[in-house]
Amino acid sequence: MIRAFDAVIVGGGIVGAACALAFSRQGLRVALVEPGEIGGGATAAAMGHIVVLDDSPAQLALTRYSQLLWRQMAGELPPDVEYTSRGTLWVAADDEEVQEICRKHSVYREKEIPSEVVGGEALRSLEPALRGGLAGGLLVHEDVVVSPQLAAQFLLRQALAGNATLVQQMAVSMQSGTVRLNNGDELHAPFLVNAAGEGAPALTPGLPVAMRKGHLAITHPYPGFLRYQVVELGYLKSAHVTTTDTVAFNVQPRQNGQLLIGSSRQFGVKGREVDDGILTRMFARAAEYLPALPSLSIERTWTGFRSATPDKLPLIGLSAEDETLFLATGHEGLGITTSLATAQLLADSIAGRTPAIPMAPYSPSRKIASIVEAFPA
Ligand SMILES: Cc1cc2nc3c(=O)[nH]c(=O)nc-3n(C[C@H](O)[C@H](O)[C@H](O)COP(=O)(O)OP(=O)(O)OC[C@H]3O[C@@H](n4cnc5c(N)ncnc54)[C@H](O)[C@@H]3O)c2cc1C
Repeated sequence: MIRAFDAVIVGGGIVGAACALAFSRQGLRVALVEPGEIGGGATAAAMGHIVVLDDSPAQLALTRYSQLLWRQMAGELPPDVEYTSRGTLWVAADDEEVQEICRKHSVYREKEIPSEVVGGEALRSLEPALRGGLAGGLLVHEDVVVSPQLAAQFLLRQALAGNATLVQQMAVSMQSGTVRLNNGDELHAPFLVNAAGEGAPALTPGLPVAMRKGHLAITHPYPGFLRYQVVELGYLKSAHVTTTDTVAFNVQPRQNGQLLIGSSRQFGVKGREVDDGILTRMFARAAEYLPALPSLSIERTWTGFRSATPDKLPLIGLSAEDETLFLATGHEGLGITTSLATAQLLADSIAGRTPAIPMAPYSPSRKIASIVEAFPA
């Protein structure tokens, strides 16, 4: 069977679901192809931290733009999405990290992103569970938290209530305006979007993305243990390392008092199983900051894969090889944050509107080192 749409999106994670909603809201008849549970891929594995980061001006622009889109949508989100104004408390362990806190603060101030520098003593009055002797911190007020899979499911439900159709099949190819499905059907459209996460390189060979495995754990509820999402400043350093496995302290309190404990990054590891060695390192790192952490009981642990590009920016825009094919992948550890901006940028491209932020830094045709050079095995 052949069916025609205005746009066909492959992948029902948070990025595909956000695209389906943005396209449907601009009147496009859109099909979303997903064989499994909506948001059941990397999206289900994520912490759901909607966070501004400033590794590069382009990363800052995308994360902040998307955070503001989440905020605009906050009133529509049902309670189960648990949109929570949590704030991020970045923790500096020493004077060198305090300098980085001050740099970050001045960048955020310039971009009108509310944040405040706190000293070591103030840090403990904000979060008494932190150990003494830490050098200071940066409280970023407008970072929020959502429940990522439920957010993706909400976005798709809204799209389906408009002009979208869910096609519960696996795509086997997508090019030149045609998506072929594993049941032999074809979906035709002038615009295709590859938002297939881990499955994206199989559909568009040669994509400069590699998978980065991550572990997370969640405790039983301990209401009041933490107030903010608390992250070591060293998290940023660890997120940049591509040659060894890294762990960093990153703990998020959920609305019911459960604590999500992260995080780890591993390249070149394919299996989905939980690695006890990595978990042990992750917990030990977190306990260096939260001494009472080892007394808490863990309810569940899991892993997921982040799609990483060599320059740490996602691929959003038209493929260089196929004028019908948009890419929406490579969001690494920021795909929940940047899903709404990704969708809006693509909706603007299709409509021929000027986007709110320049798209060139995320263009799939930008000069980008090959994955082998950037991530040597
Ligand atoms: C441990 C961990 C913690 C994270 N924490 C955060 C965080 O706090 N904040 C944040 O912003 N980001 C976070 N991330 C990153 C975030 O999870 C991802 O960037 C985001 O979920 C990517 O969404 P996606 O829709 O591109 O991919 P996915 O959610 O993986 O969705 C892709 C979908 O495509 C489908 N698919 C694949 N191949 C095909 C095919 N051939 N045909 C049809 N469908 C197909 C899959 O079934 C899947 O459902 C974290 C990631 C990990 C691993």
